[in-house]
Amino acid sequence: MAKKTKRAASKSSGSSAEFKAVIDDLVMGNRILYDQGVVDGYGHVSARDPRNPERFLLSRARAPGLVQPSDIMEFGMDGEPVRDDGRPIYSERFIHSEIYLARPDVNGVVHSHSPTVVPFTVTNVPLKPIRASFFYPEVPLFDTRDVAGWTNLLISNRELGKALAEKLGKNSVVLLRGHGNAVVGSSVRLAVYRAVYTEANAKLLLQAKMLGGPINYLAPEEAAIMESSQSRHRPGHGTDRIWELLKSEAIARTGQPKR
Ligand SMILES: [Zn+2]
Repeated sequence: MAKKTKRAASKSSGSSAEFKAVIDDLVMGNRILYDQGVVDGYGHVSARDPRNPERFLLSRARAPGLVQPSDIMEFGMDGEPVRDDGRPIYSERFIHSEIYLARPDVNGVVHSHSPTVVPFTVTNVPLKPIRASFFYPEVPLFDTRDVAGWTNLLISNRELGKALAEKLGKNSVVLLRGHGNAVVGSSVRLAVYRAVYTEANAKLLLQAKMLGGPINYLAPEEAAIMESSQSRHRPGHGTDRIWELLKSEAIARTGQPKR
């Protein structure tokens, strides 16, 4: 009996440690995206709740560069807060809820109006990979007009969120026409990393196009090898190394989050 109690206790402290780690990454992810110029006063990042996969964690409506741990709220898969305490919430939270519903493999979602990516949402120039191996199989383009006609372009209800998640399919990035993009990953860190490198790849592609001539894109075979070496997760490599650097830069600019 005593053994059982001990095991239950250690399990619950393990999940609360995991929850705290996800909150820390979520707060830092907000600030990194701001520091890297992926978001400004708008845009948001969420995490699936490690204690309950039917819920996700997202800041109250606030500029990402200012988000503190106490701003993080819990939401259900209907996109509504679990406890409505009257705090303002993001109108585009349905991007997150509907992607989590459609993609059980996704644990982190970023929505931004990442400036170099937006031109690729309004031209016929496809956003193809130079460095971003996660652009395969493809980077689809979602248009609110196809689903809802004339709107303010915001994904402000479940119907639009569901249609966006369908357009995302099994990919990692979906473009929103005249608006921005949504990027997903198996963790908050991976989603943030991909959002930063989606913007970086868009910049590289713009520069390559200015040089003129045909572009030698990253081949799908090369991308698959890059993705599999990253998923081996060696400490100090890949996302870990970048996270450590981006975190220290974000803290230098936005300060330490309040405990
Ligand atoms: Zn938006």
